[in-house]
Amino acid sequence: MVFRKLFAKDLKVIEMKNRFTTFFDEFYYFADYLSEKGGKVKKSTGKAASYRNYLAFFFVLFEENTNLKITDPASLATYQLLDNFRQSKGFTEYNKDEHHYPSASLKCYLAFVSDKAVKNEIFYDVKMNEESEQQFINETPAEYVVKTDYSSDDIRKKSKKILLNGRLVYQRSLAEVIKAKEQAGWRCEINPKHETFIAESNDKPYVEAHHLIPMAVQDLFDNTIDFAGNISCLCPTCHRKIHLAKSPGKYELVKQLYSTRKNKYEDYNLQIDFKQLLNYYRIY
Ligand SMILES: [Zn+2]
Ligand SMILES: [Zn+2]
Repeated sequence: MVFRKLFAKDLKVIEMKNRFTTFFDEFYYFADYLSEKGGKVKKSTGKAASYRNYLAFFFVLFEENTNLKITDPASLATYQLLDNFRQSKGFTEYNKDEHHYPSASLKCYLAFVSDKAVKNEIFYDVKMNEESEQQFINETPAEYVVKTDYSSDDIRKKSKKILLNGRLVYQRSLAEVIKAKEQAGWRCEINPKHETFIAESNDKPYVEAHHLIPMAVQDLFDNTIDFAGNISCLCPTCHRKIHLAKSPGKYELVKQLYSTRKNKYEDYNLQIDFKQLLNYYRIY
């Protein structure tokens, strides 16, 4: 049986927790923070501890039934592997028998790994926008924002990863950025009246590109998310706001941008629901 019942006192579970002590501690605090945020509980209940246990169980079951070993539990790639494993026969029954703790802990795990992944997204976005401007001025080929115009077949494939500021990140396409800005008429999508200035690089109103599904979570998708339909065109203030505002401020913008491109995601065969998208903005 793939999904056998496990207990916190099982040796394998204890060993798994010891292997990734820091990870499980961080996950526990995150789960605790989320359940308090959810407003259902004022004081910390046993929920976070249960989530931590069920995640450890899941790691054990995964390693028992696949030939794979978990090495980097906090990564999106590991989440993907576990999410695939969850499709194995018997999960539904197991989940039911365990009062849906397995699925709830996996959901929390996805929020946790996404939260980690998107933490530096603004740095890479600012860099992308700077490099986009620079390319007009210097004509220097950049490694991060690439000029290659993908053919329509290629666009569904993911771009190459490069090391930038100590992190492996996907290259971004300048052509797609420009396409998105042209589609928005070089105006802020939130409100075309938002004031900006004329850029030296191209004599057009300065606007910034922002991937609504952040590039930081590209690993969760089989196809590229670096296409004009996913790139929003924002004035610098709205761009900072969507990354840095308090949750209600961010929420407004994410909601507006999502509602105008929901269908485009369907065209690209991208499964993204609004709740999941909010996680990528750390709105809980
Ligand atoms: Zn951005
Ligand atoms: Zn704006």
